[in-house]
Amino acid sequence: MPILETKNLSKSFGGLKALNNVSIEIDESTLTLIIGPNGSGKSTFINVVSGFIPADSGRVIFDGKDITNKPPNEIYNYGIVRTFQTPQPLKEMTVLENLLIAERHIGESVLNALNYKKWLKMEEELVEKAFKILKFLKIDHLWDRKAGQLSGGQMKLLEIGRALMTNPKLIIMDEPIAGVAPGLAHEIFNHLIKLKERGITLLIVEHRLDIVLKYIDHLYVMFEGEVIAEGRGEKEIEKVLNDPKVLEVYVGD
Ligand code: ADP
Ligand code: MG
Repeated sequence: MPILETKNLSKSFGGLKALNNVSIEIDESTLTLIIGPNGSGKSTFINVVSGFIPADSGRVIFDGKDITNKPPNEIYNYGIVRTFQTPQPLKEMTVLENLLIAERHIGESVLNALNYKKWLKMEEELVEKAFKILKFLKIDHLWDRKAGQLSGGQMKLLEIGRALMTNPKLIIMDEPIAGVAPGLAHEIFNHLIKLKERGITLLIVEHRLDIVLKYIDHLYVMFEGEVIAEGRGEKEIEKVLNDPKVLEVYVGD
């Protein structure tokens, strides 16, 4: 059973069909990549799955449950977290603070502040968890840096760190390496691969195929709101990339 499935998902903006019957299936602990020229509907797809934009029709099934058009906070509680094309950290806060406020149950822990000892213990555990994540991403040395002072690549890592604080089952990422130098881009994907080994599922939109190709398990190609090709595993993915339909949409892109 796939962990995420969409069935005939459609979404129009005025007369424009941004999504036209998009059906995908994503297996647990895999890395799925969606590519496609600008305007293909990739971001719209992510926005619909994560509840930021309602679908006109079709279904989104996650972990066996129908989550179609549920509000983002509810979808988040199912274990789906997303990152944005442009990272949105709180720039005046430090890297560590940005992680602490990303944690799922921070609201509850504030309530628990009435019990001072318990609060201290939770705070301690939270900081420990944040540092583990920062170490994993190799940015622990930046813990007290203001997020607004980070480089583009470091900010992308911080985004991943914030996502990990929520113990997600599925991380959806819109262009995680856009504007990132190749060395750091490979580093980011090496981190993502390790997350996969820990049972986290990754759904990624990215158009720098040269860098990400060797990391992916499953590839979808979108064009004008539709999935035009799909492949699982090295051989099928190779076939997709040589598919005349796919080559054609990339001419002039
Ligand atoms: P991609 O991420 O593949 O570049 P998008 O999903 O951002 O594509 O956009 C798909 C199409 O939908 C584009 O033609 C875009 O202009 C249009 N679109 C996206 N969001 C909106 C919106 N909020 N209002 C109107 N049109 C939109
Ligand atoms: Mg986009």
